[in-house]
Parts: sequence; C-alpha cells; structure tokens
Amino acid sequence: MDGFKASMLHASLAHALIGVWIRCPLAQSVLHSELALWRTRKVDVDEDFFLQIASRFEVMSVERDEFDALQGAEPAHKHLDEIFDRLSRLVRKRYMAVADWGAKERIELMISWIGNPPYPDKAPLGALGAAACMPAKRKDDDNPAQVKLIFAPSLLGPPSWAAVPFLLCHELVCHATQGAPMDSSDPFAEGWMDLIAQRLHDRWLDKVFPWAPKFARTCADELSCITRQRGPDLPDLHSNTRAARAMGRQAALLIEEALRVVRHPSSRSPSRALERLSLQLNRVSSTVTDRWSFVAKIMRLLDRPETQLDRNELEQRVRLRRCLQGWVAGEVPASEVLFFS
Ligand SMILES: [Zn+2]
Repeated sequence: MDGFKASMLHASLAHALIGVWIRCPLAQSVLHSELALWRTRKVDVDEDFFLQIASRFEVMSVERDEFDALQGAEPAHKHLDEIFDRLSRLVRKRYMAVADWGAKERIELMISWIGNPPYPDKAPLGALGAAACMPAKRKDDDNPAQVKLIFAPSLLGPPSWAAVPFLLCHELVCHATQGAPMDSSDPFAEGWMDLIAQRLHDRWLDKVFPWAPKFARTCADELSCITRQRGPDLPDLHSNTRAARAMGRQAALLIEEALRVVRHPSSRSPSRALERLSLQLNRVSSTVTDRWSFVAKIMRLLDRPETQLDRNELEQRVRLRRCLQGWVAGEVPASEVLFFS
C-alpha cells in the first residue's frame, strides 16, 4: 500500500478506535502489529482495509464491540482540517489579545509521510507515529507559510493521532510567528514556548479534540516527556534539541515563580502572566543568540540559591525582578525583559 494512503487510513482507524484503545489491551497489541504491515497490505477500496482489520481482530478473539467501532469510520482528513482550522483561529486570537500576530497570510496544513519512525526512541504501542515542523520559507516566497504534519504509518495508532493537536499547537504557537530565525536548538522556541503551547493546548482541547480531550491531554503529555528524555545513544541533533527544550522549559517555570513574587494584587495568576509575557517575548525581533543568552541568564540568576551568586549576579537578579515588576505594571515592554542586563 502507498505510504500516504496508509497514513490516512491508519489515522481514520486510530480516530475510530480511541474508545476501544483506552479499555482493551488486546486490541492495542493486535492493532500495533497490524500497523507495521502496511507495506505488504493490498487494498482496492478503503472499506477493504477496515474489513481486514476487523477480521484480524476476530481471529485474535478481540471482543465484538471492539471491531464494531470500525463500522462507519470517518476519513481522517476531514478531522484534520477541522483540528487545524480551530487551532489556527484560537492561536491567532490569543496572540492578537496580548501581543500581535505577525503572519500576513493564512497558514496552510500540509500532510506528508515517512517510512522510518520520526523519533529515535522505542515507541510505546501506537505512539510516536506523528511529527510536525514548519519548513523554512525564503523571503521572496509568496506562497502561504505551511505547517507540515508527518505521519509514520507503522506507528500511527490512537496515541499518535491524539497527539496531533499538540504537535500542531507547538508549530502555531512557537514557530508560526516567532520573532527569531528558526533553529531547532533555540531553547526559547523549543522549550519555553513549548510549555506555553502545551498549556494552551490543554485548555483548548474540549474545542479542538472534542472526541476524547482527556486522552489527547495524556498523549500530549507522554509525547512531551519522551521528547525531553535524553540517553547515551541519541543522535546529536535530538540531543541538542532536547537539552534546549529542557532548559527553556525550566527557565519559563523560574520566571513564572518570579512573577508570583512581583505580582500586583490586582493582576492575573502567575501562569496567565507568564503566558502573556511569553507570547509578547516570542514576537520580539531577536536572534537565536539573543534568546540563548536570555534563557541562560534566567538560569544563572534564578536557578541557584543566593549563596552561590556573586555580588554582580545578586545585583543583576534585583534588576531582573525590577524589570519584571515594570512589565507587570505595564511600564516596560517585553523587549526590555528579553534584553535586560
Ligand atoms: Zn519546534
């Protein structure tokens, strides 16, 4: 079977089987093995695919209810368009409310597939079968920006499918309108903003993935944990991105804690303040080096006890808190926070 066709059929299958997947371990292992056979599968019409899976379930004595779920499975591309449209609107609206939205034109969703697993980690059943990125665009390119969703048919089970909104949310929140060039080792885009993307995703899931929001939240969290894990055999590219991701995330949490301290009594919760500040920071025109030094500064000043800081650093920490206070009071722009010294 063609890889693109297999991807779309596996996505439809994953969508139809979410309920079953959550409660039936046997269906999980049977389905996981069936996904791996896509290259040798012969399918003339889509219904044949669902019949093949149903008969496999029957042979393996998976309960009747489980393959009944396959009746009337809706095509995945319909859901994908819906998910992407809703997310794009929500992200744009949130940016417009607290910062601005730099993207001139609409952003398109492009669906693609790969034969190899997109992550180097050992995949839990039906997971790690989807990834996303935003291909770099030349300045003179007039075509709309694209978010590229990549499916690996051999792993595309319900957990991969339910993590799609998080993958898209990451691209739209972290990258679609970022004020710095794209770089996979940018700790601000990959870690700090990823935390914000995940929180927005969690808040929006009832609207974006109404079929199983709790499951989608869990799958996003699992994916997020796996893609922060490091190990001795990890290729350099992943190692660097993951180190940046962990560092950026930690810096964001430290700033959230600092915002708790400097908060004005009438202002919003520290998490909402962090969200607002982050969306503004992401729009500030900067280089990847600027972002690196900002995150490194936060780590140096806020991630160590006072006793480990020298006099210069202690003074800098006071200046950082003052800068945050100024931002909370609406007296200084986010750019001053990013470039504080
Ligand atoms: Zn990213």
